[in-house]
Amino acid sequence: MGKRKIFDQVSDMEKQIGELYEQLGDLKEQLSNLLEENHRLAMENHHIRKRLNSTEEHSDSGENDKATTDIPSEGYDNLARLYEEGFHICNVHYGSPREEEDCLFCLLFLNKTK
Ligand SMILES: [Zn+2]
Repeated sequence: MGKRKIFDQVSDMEKQIGELYEQLGDLKEQLSNLLEENHRLAMENHHIRKRLNSTEEHSDSGENDKATTDIPSEGYDNLARLYEEGFHICNVHYGSPREEEDCLFCLLFLNKTK
């Protein structure tokens, strides 16, 4: 193998290593984004569960249908705030993000408890 050829091979390899290193950097960034999102979702989940529990504590019966009819005002404020923050508070989609749209079930629910 000529010296020239070896040199070419080495610089080829150098280029490949450079590209791999770049890909590794991208993957690392994606991983860190995923971890961040995972953490955010876990916190959100925790947050929603906490609110759900405190809402359930306020109602005497475990039955959902009954609970919707007699939520004390504190519970109502919490739910209204939760709705304002962009989450469903209706029995149909409770706790899931609302994505900017008003939800009929939620609005009915809010009116019913007002
Ligand atoms: Zn809803």
